[in-house]
Amino acid sequence: MSAQRTALVTGANRGIGLEVSRQLAGKGFHVFLTARNRKAGIKAAAALQEQGGKVTFVELDVANPESIKRAAKEVAAAINHLDVLVNNAGVLANSDGDVLQTDPVVVLKTIDTNALGPLRVTQAFARLLGKSDSGRVINVSSGAGALHDMDNYAPAYSISKTALNAVTRQLAAALKSKGVAVNSVSPGWVRTDMGGTGAPRSVGQGADGIRWLATKAPKDLTGQFVQDRNTIPW
Ligand code: NAP
Repeated sequence: MSAQRTALVTGANRGIGLEVSRQLAGKGFHVFLTARNRKAGIKAAAALQEQGGKVTFVELDVANPESIKRAAKEVAAAINHLDVLVNNAGVLANSDGDVLQTDPVVVLKTIDTNALGPLRVTQAFARLLGKSDSGRVINVSSGAGALHDMDNYAPAYSISKTALNAVTRQLAAALKSKGVAVNSVSPGWVRTDMGGTGAPRSVGQGADGIRWLATKAPKDLTGQFVQDRNTIPW
């Protein structure tokens, strides 16, 4: 087994996913930077390669089972274990407004990407994760998905992140015997295309907790919701 640690990040052509890829490559990981948009992904991977990172682009649309299958095949041909999977890709629909007016189709589409995407991708990479000495799956969730203080903010998005947190609990239980930790993480409110320019956190700050879960968190921390390196209520 190659000694180099390996990581795969979804939705990594911009925002938090790109920054997580940059940080993990900087820590010596071989990073599989994935994106649904081939051109944008290749450009992002090239930028990190120029900074000295070992970064390989793989096309992966988390909403498309065939795309995930192709990506898993491509990655399995290149490596024999996956240490870290960061399920980062996510959407927040422009029309995600008043819950009394919300189009259920928007809710369904948002769940498909934000909750079922991570489920599909983890299923596809479970075998490679099980080959790691300490596999870690990090589902990038949101405080918006926490039930304990949920209000009426962005209903489709919030519901999808609550569903993602349930996916985390299910996968954590299922992968425990394989020594794979699975956690949800809230990056806080981050300045990205999704977070907007008024957000208080930089992408570096948003990625910090994800990098910590990928590299430093105790191996037995699993099935938890984490922000700023601390467990938070669901
Ligand atoms: P972003 O800048 O909008 O980036 C979202 C990324 O997800 C893009 O790379 C996008 O690709 C990708 N994506 C969307 N659908 C995809 C699909 N079907 N397959 C593959 N990739 C897909 O948002 P961000 O702020 O970096 O968000 C990253 C994660 O953090 C998301 O899960 C988000 O919910 C979460 N989060 C963000 C904040 C915040 O304040 N920014 C707060 C809490 C949680 P395209 O370029 O092709 O669209």
